[in-house]
Amino acid sequence: MKYKPKILPVRLYGDDFLRKKLPEIDYNTPGLPEFIEDLIYTMYARDGIGIAANQVGSFYRMIVIDPEQDNKLNKKSPIVMINPVIENKEGEVVYEEGCISLPDIFADVSRSKKITYSYTDRMGNRITETAEEIKAVVIQHEFDHLEGILFIDHLGTLDRLKIMHKLKKLQARAVNGQNILEGLTL
Ligand SMILES: [Zn+2]
Repeated sequence: MKYKPKILPVRLYGDDFLRKKLPEIDYNTPGLPEFIEDLIYTMYARDGIGIAANQVGSFYRMIVIDPEQDNKLNKKSPIVMINPVIENKEGEVVYEEGCISLPDIFADVSRSKKITYSYTDRMGNRITETAEEIKAVVIQHEFDHLEGILFIDHLGTLDRLKIMHKLKKLQARAVNGQNILEGLTL
């Protein structure tokens, strides 16, 4: 029987899981194929173009991205990256970023324009690729999550001040134990 994926609760800013550095995982971990299905399903349900495992409270060192998705055309091509490593970085580029774990917060972030990276794919193959611009930015953002780093950590003092009130609101939710995003947004 085909596995029916479910939406996993997303951890929001203030949750300790977002600050955890995730250890490498064994590709043959039981339950990993199902978790991958759930993570992909959750990313699309939350309108994300990328998601990292600790955003749903998992210790698996893996991310899913789909920077080329098109909702109008219903075009989906999720890329699963297990134990990703960024091998090389070049240049600089600035995009406005947001994050499923930081709702309603957006800011310009400077990142490398071109990266070379390797990862284990869903079939268990180790792959090395190069990406530029948006795809490179998405991978760097998600890779950061696996290291416990959030995009707001890259902001300067002034940009941080601009979003401080929103961060405080999220932090207050965390203190009250309401920092998990549940329910359908489909
Ligand atoms: Zn994020």
